[in-house]
Amino acid sequence: MSTIEATAGELLARLKSRETTSAELVRLCLSQIDAHDGEIGAFLHLDRDDALRQAEAIDAKRARGESLGVLGGLPVAVKDVVSQRGQPCTCGSRMLQRYIPPYDATIIEKLRAADAVLLGRTNMDEFAMGSSTENSAYRVTRNPWNREHSPGGSSGGSAAAVAARMVPLSIGSDTGGSIRQPASFCGVTGLKPTYGRVSRYGLVAYASSLDQLGPLAQDVSGATRLLQAIAGHDPLDSTSIARPVPDYLSRLEQPLEGVRIGVVEEYQSAAGMDPEVSASLVEALDVYRALGADVRTVSLPHAKYAVATYYIIAPCEASSNLARYDGVHFGHRTEQAGNLLDMYCKTRAEGFGPEVKRRIMIGTYALSAGYYDAYYLQALKVRRLIRQDFDRAFEQVDVIASPVSPTPAFRLGAMADDPLAMYLSDLFTLTANLAGLPGISVPAGISRTGLPIGLQLLAAPLQEEPLLRAARMFEKATEWHTKRPPLVGSSFHFP
Ligand code: GLN
Repeated sequence: MSTIEATAGELLARLKSRETTSAELVRLCLSQIDAHDGEIGAFLHLDRDDALRQAEAIDAKRARGESLGVLGGLPVAVKDVVSQRGQPCTCGSRMLQRYIPPYDATIIEKLRAADAVLLGRTNMDEFAMGSSTENSAYRVTRNPWNREHSPGGSSGGSAAAVAARMVPLSIGSDTGGSIRQPASFCGVTGLKPTYGRVSRYGLVAYASSLDQLGPLAQDVSGATRLLQAIAGHDPLDSTSIARPVPDYLSRLEQPLEGVRIGVVEEYQSAAGMDPEVSASLVEALDVYRALGADVRTVSLPHAKYAVATYYIIAPCEASSNLARYDGVHFGHRTEQAGNLLDMYCKTRAEGFGPEVKRRIMIGTYALSAGYYDAYYLQALKVRRLIRQDFDRAFEQVDVIASPVSPTPAFRLGAMADDPLAMYLSDLFTLTANLAGLPGISVPAGISRTGLPIGLQLLAAPLQEEPLLRAARMFEKATEWHTKRPPLVGSSFHFP
């Protein structure tokens, strides 16, 4: 297998055996990016010299015989929503076009400590609001499997970069599905950890009670390795969980004997389901049955309110979080203002795109006196009921299986004028954020039109270990994760 197609684990083995070096890998990634990113649009920013310097420093450590961290010289691309000292952090917004963070997020420090090479900043929907990466102020990201289709969002750049083999691993953020849905659309593996498992210090806030950072990779083992590097308590994030991080990697290959898998009764009749997506779930359950799993039906009676609940809570939190972009504290300031109020309004009118403005308006409305009780408070109550449904379900099963998205990747522009249709397509992913659960998307099919289909598995809070093992069992029994988008291999040759 050529280096560019190798998984993170295979690349690490080659690094360890000195068959390749980290600097060589970085050069390979850069040449793949040069060959394809003009068309795909996965990256917003690359600092080639900095990446090569990091790689050479890690190669030198290895040459000196020093022990290296779990990422031992592997390149990792990071969504442009995470603060990295000295690098741009635009969040896909004009508002932060010239913002250069003066500090590293905790996840960046952890990646450095694990000996990752930070290779570039990936495209995203503005402030992570969206499901298609079309809301970026800078460029559209295209799906490597079919350039006319969306890579999903909001971490579409991170997913497309891994799918197009521009980088073996990447970091995304998931507030309502933004790691899992693009992973599913691009045929890669994406994990949203338990809320609080990975520090949010230095992650630019969208909806703070829902946001979580996590890994994207070609396979479960790559995602597990990256999780191992980034998980853990952080005193700088008061919502981070003070529990030791298990050794996820050491037991990954151990299948879960008699694993109990829940299928959600209420999802059987979900509107807008593509028959190929339903069929791939049925097939996935058969794979599990053949592996000895006990497949049962579970009920999530309040899941049908997830879209309504999320699209109140997330905009409410966003409207508050985004108040800081006022022309004074951060980012863009208009040149055109006559007085302070004018400056504030014009700055925000110029700096934010239409979807961000829509969310700020919804959030401000739902939080205003007279509406707070009817919308925000009500949504918080329903959120609690959704969590209770899961608590009950996880008394009966170890993981819950469902589609990631009701359809494979939609065409670019297909829902550009219909935000509600785009919101509705998040129905399967939002519940994990509302309930704080870990969830993973693994490749589980390819549509007749050649687009990947993902399988979502959810587990109880902090149950990443069994979740990853269950995902690995499926992966081992299937070949979906080995499929490549047409651009990889066909136009790319290695000595
Ligand atoms: N599509 C959802 C939204 O627009 C989720 C985005 C995310 O997870 N960042 O809010």
